[in-house]
Amino acid sequence: MSRLARSLDRLEPRYDVVVVGSGYGGGVAASRLARAGKRVAVLERGREFLTGEFPSRFPDLRGEMQLAGRRLRLGSPTGLYDVRFGEDMHVLIGCGLGGGSLINAGVALRPDPRVFADPVWPAEVAGDELLDEGYARAARWVRPARDEAAAERTKYRALASAGAALGKSPVQAPVVVSFAATINPAGVAQPACTRCGDCCGGCNVGAKNTVALTYLPDAVRHGAQIFTHAKVRHVAKAPDGGWRVEFERLDGGGAGGTAKPATVTADIVVLAAGTLGSTEILLRSRERGLALSDRLGKSFSANGDIIAFGYGAKLPVNAIGVGDPPKVEGLDVGACVSGQIEIVDDDDLANSLTIQEGVLPSSLAPILPALFVPNGRLLGALKSLIAGVYKGPFASLQTFFAVSHDTASGRLVLEDDRIALTWPGAKDEPVYRRLDAALEALVRQAGGTYVKNPLAGTMMGQQPATAHPLGGCGMGRERGEGVVNHKCQVFDGAAGAGAAQVHDGLYVIDGAIMPRSLGVNPLLTITALAERAMLHLARDRGLAFDAGPRTYATPISPMAPGLA
Ligand SMILES: Cc1cc2nc3c(=O)[nH]c(=O)nc-3n(C[C@H](O)[C@H](O)[C@H](O)COP(=O)(O)OP(=O)(O)OC[C@H]3O[C@@H](n4cnc5c(N)ncnc54)[C@H](O)[C@@H]3O)c2cc1C
Ligand code: SF4
Repeated sequence: MSRLARSLDRLEPRYDVVVVGSGYGGGVAASRLARAGKRVAVLERGREFLTGEFPSRFPDLRGEMQLAGRRLRLGSPTGLYDVRFGEDMHVLIGCGLGGGSLINAGVALRPDPRVFADPVWPAEVAGDELLDEGYARAARWVRPARDEAAAERTKYRALASAGAALGKSPVQAPVVVSFAATINPAGVAQPACTRCGDCCGGCNVGAKNTVALTYLPDAVRHGAQIFTHAKVRHVAKAPDGGWRVEFERLDGGGAGGTAKPATVTADIVVLAAGTLGSTEILLRSRERGLALSDRLGKSFSANGDIIAFGYGAKLPVNAIGVGDPPKVEGLDVGACVSGQIEIVDDDDLANSLTIQEGVLPSSLAPILPALFVPNGRLLGALKSLIAGVYKGPFASLQTFFAVSHDTASGRLVLEDDRIALTWPGAKDEPVYRRLDAALEALVRQAGGTYVKNPLAGTMMGQQPATAHPLGGCGMGRERGEGVVNHKCQVFDGAAGAGAAQVHDGLYVIDGAIMPRSLGVNPLLTITALAERAMLHLARDRGLAFDAGPRTYATPISPMAPGLA
């Protein structure tokens, strides 16, 4: 596949639409508005990765980690794995063209209907038929599927055996993976999944249905222009109408090769920089005078999400990816998630939870034993440093992704011009006790030891961590309740109390708009609400687009040139 992104030197001064960020929300907006005939530019801070270019060995990871905390700034600002160390909670997000879709596990679930029945949402969300239509469109493009042979995977069988502790059997998890070779709706020829397990490291096969292989190539095929290395700082009303977007060039380009801020203007700006990114841009914009809701930054949720481990189980699990080409032969790893245990509490939604068995990417394999050693409990880890992780104790390492509900009581603020999360009570949220109890029971049943966080006590401290940050620009009926309305339009904070007036042409469309936890992995809902927002935007502005798949004479290979 040739690159979708072009040099920032070719950015024009004005577009109909500028989309900031290129995850699920940004991908949907770029594709739909380009299909509607708009001149669209996408500004993404990260780099473009073609299939075959994701880190597959430990040394490759070095350049792909960015670590930031109150007194810490390490790694490249375009590193693929973006870790924010917080005083109360850590957050892991993706950075690159395609956003979190590049490194996520791809589990695609629709929340319990009680989530949308919560009055915290504007009534229109559950009340019009466009939510269902949004989910239907999202499913046609990201194509959740189940691995037919999921139940045969060793890790699935290990979960089934451990599930006895909770009186539950696992079910197959829908993941956005092409298990058979296909030409996708954007005309990209995706090979079949090799079950290498490396989904969270970046799929080097081209089988994961990322935004970079679906919505973004579709947008480009309809004329959108995509730019990487463009980190947007803030937005402001343009003197001649529309919006001025100021960004920093991370490619070392620009006047005299300095990282001087550059600008572009557009009639419509869609902020889709993810929960942390979009909230940060609006917080900074407010500091520069843009009137916004007082709710900005509030109701941050970690989606009751944790990653945890079981060490020393009796049965093999085979939950360390082998990569492609495989680093070891003959291991049936499977996609990152094959099975999940669902616990539904009919009386109290907050108690419902889903536990998924997960796989760690193969690039981490050489370092994995060292990660477990600091705890001092796991001396077997030392042996594996020498013998490798595909046999011995790490062959029975259980990795769990668990997701549930929290109280969405975090708050995003600007500290030294950077986004920071404050949530003093985070680690005492009841959800963590529930998840620990369930996971401990599973691990005990398997004969192992529960390791909540192998790095607790190191620089990670005892804080919880999430890969599902949500909120900060939550939806509401009016500006006293939310930052955006049900169509994702940003409320005008200068309007009177209780007013629902919006800033014409300014939208937030990503995980930031969630006013509460979803209780399931969020990608499908973010995509569905983005599709829904596009339907409303088209109605409001008299636009038309068809969202169906296209057939092209020449399908595109996802592989980087030279690797096809
Ligand atoms: C390891 C991992 C596993 C996960 N597994 C799952 C799963 O199985 N299922 C699931 O549903 N979810 C999963 N998630 C979460 C899911 O990937 C995210 O919720 C989702 O990607 C969020 O989509 P988004 O559109 O809100 O933004 P993102 O996907 O985060 O995209 C935002 C984009 O904006 C860019 N950006 C940020 N700031 C700026 C700026 N200032 N200027 C320009 N660009 C900017 C970012 O680089 C990024 O590309 C996982 C996440 C991780 C990290
Ligand atoms: S298991 Fe391997 S081939 Fe399949 S989607 Fe995940 S990374 Fe790609």
